[in-house]
Amino acid sequence: MRLALYTPLEAFRPDIADVVRIFYGEGSVLPEDAPGRDGALVHTHELEGGVWRETFALTLEGQTRRQTLEAPAVFGGLEEKRQLKRLIKRCCYALLRDVTGRRPPWGSLTGIRPTRLYYQRLERGDTREQARSYLAEQFDLSPEKIGLLDEIVDAQRGLIDVEENACDLYIGIPFCTTRCAYCSFSSGEIGDGRLVEPYLTALLHEIDACARMAKEKSLRLRAGYVGGGTPTSLSASQLDRLLSHAERAFGPLAEWTVEGGRPDTLTRERLTALRDHPVTRISVNPQTMRDETLRRIGRAHTAAQTEEAFSLARAMGFDDINMDVIAALPGEDADIFGETLRRVSALAPESLTVHTLAIKRSSRLHEQGFCPDARDAARMVAMGREAAHAMGMRAYYLYRQKYMAENLENVGYALPGRACRYNIDNMEETTSVLALGAGGITKVVRRKEEKIVRAPNIANIEQYIARVDEMIERKRRALFPA
Ligand code: SF4
Repeated sequence: MRLALYTPLEAFRPDIADVVRIFYGEGSVLPEDAPGRDGALVHTHELEGGVWRETFALTLEGQTRRQTLEAPAVFGGLEEKRQLKRLIKRCCYALLRDVTGRRPPWGSLTGIRPTRLYYQRLERGDTREQARSYLAEQFDLSPEKIGLLDEIVDAQRGLIDVEENACDLYIGIPFCTTRCAYCSFSSGEIGDGRLVEPYLTALLHEIDACARMAKEKSLRLRAGYVGGGTPTSLSASQLDRLLSHAERAFGPLAEWTVEGGRPDTLTRERLTALRDHPVTRISVNPQTMRDETLRRIGRAHTAAQTEEAFSLARAMGFDDINMDVIAALPGEDADIFGETLRRVSALAPESLTVHTLAIKRSSRLHEQGFCPDARDAARMVAMGREAAHAMGMRAYYLYRQKYMAENLENVGYALPGRACRYNIDNMEETTSVLALGAGGITKVVRRKEEKIVRAPNIANIEQYIARVDEMIERKRRALFPA
């Protein structure tokens, strides 16, 4: 379906387009008067007597359906924009829901962090019951998704309230052994290994500078995360050098996660390098336990290698291991995904992250025109949840991305006491993060001002190496405003 969208409020065009995509998918919104359209969606906005009135009219095959919603207007600043945006989205959603007869699980919500809305209601003094009703009435969230948010809010209790000067660390290693078909990074952003040594030199320099700033600012560092890319694509000695340096610079942290990512990189030597440092949590990511799919998505390991890497890590004393799986991979149905979940459950990890495949525009899967079946994706996500519950885990964080099948979500599940603090902090944005390395985005949370200041590092590896001092300076400006 391709609809030409007309709106008098251009600033809200992307928000309306987000709602249309929930029902009709990528590429369904065209500019006004674009050729090749199947129909037109016309928005009108009125303000009369202190009341906003939004109307959407959808014309398809010569027939027009309309929906109008009204709300008292709010005047002034961000709240005006927020309330008007919600009304416009709700109105568009209500029309498309009627026309299509579909009820998407997340209703009209298109944001990345749905838990935030729940917390906002609680901060306003709502009871849990009132917050749930608000989400159902205002956004048409399904009972199942409200239950998921409830579970997460419970799991985050006691972990989400942090001191003003609390801060996490992120260290990015942007190298991978092969490129996954769903990867949205350019090869200049994930590298080919040629630049590893110069990259490490720049990164260690950034670590030293950031450790000095953290001290100067009296930051209380609580969780560290080495992600990527694939951090374990570094050699054992490079990993040892990186972790030794970080440890010396920042001192001990209560939690350090290293993403193993690719099971074929988890050799005894690399695992030894991790174990020799206070790494508290690692990730061994199968994505799927079907070899044919692994080949199809460009991963250079087999399911058997995942099991071997996991068992080796366990035998070497790693007692907090996460595994990532992806629902709706090409060629997979619920039965195949069920087999992946069965084999992953047999390994008994401490946490499981169930991703929904996101077809990003710069990925190979997008070029190939792959489009997962929305119902299958929803079924698989539900199966992931059942498998996590069966292992005794509970959901503890969640985020959504654009271009996800059926507008679904990624959910982290963990056994009691095994929730990764870094993941919670990063998703809920309650704690500042110093992000080091190419593509890292530093966030300085200024709670009193209800503001987050971001300082992104450049993603291109060569540029990062050449301009690392500029990246350090960006952080300094975010941490120490004039
Ligand atoms: S592991 Fe991640 S960064 Fe590396 S190629 Fe795959 S999706 Fe891209």
